[in-house]
Amino acid sequence: MTTETTPVIGVLALQGDVREHLRALETCGVRAVTVRHADDLERVSGLVIPGGESTTMWRLATTFELMEPLRKRIEGGMPAYGSCAGMIMLADRILDGIDGQETIGGIDMTVRRNAFGRQVDSFEADVSFHGLDTPYHAVFIRAPWVERVGEDCEVLASVATGAAAGRIVAVRQGHLLATAFHPELTGDTRVHRYFVELVKEA
Ligand code: GLN
Repeated sequence: MTTETTPVIGVLALQGDVREHLRALETCGVRAVTVRHADDLERVSGLVIPGGESTTMWRLATTFELMEPLRKRIEGGMPAYGSCAGMIMLADRILDGIDGQETIGGIDMTVRRNAFGRQVDSFEADVSFHGLDTPYHAVFIRAPWVERVGEDCEVLASVATGAAAGRIVAVRQGHLLATAFHPELTGDTRVHRYFVELVKEA
């Protein structure tokens, strides 16, 4: 007899919209726990890096001595999903970062911070998301976009219309997923479900 165990998925809880991600993951039927220390990281089979502010997250992760453990787990194949600031954290290269700003990395992409411009603080748009059968209503808040992807990085969604048409806003590379928008702020859990499937596969 085989029993499917419920995966435990962590949410990096240094800063940002942690609670919203915990709730969305629980809605998807997994156990969701906060990750603040290297020990917490040992107990999870996947990690969500929330939206918030990547410069603050990087500083806190450095203070809490989490940058190296995070890099090690991701290099070791742990699935991870970053939304907005989390997307920045998973990028191998960033543009318009602050002096010395480091990322965890993992996804072969170049991400520009606050890319949609200062005057466009936040906006919503329907994006067609590869693998989802109807468009996803995406909420963008001081969002980054992806300027370049490496050949192993699959583009899942781009902006359809307007000045930013064609800009990449969701990608996947193996078991790593990133969106420039915030699915945790909408009731639509399809992106979280997509990630839970990546965790179950891994
Ligand atoms: N602009 C933020 C950053 O650089 C990201 C914004 C967000 O996560 N809503 O981290």
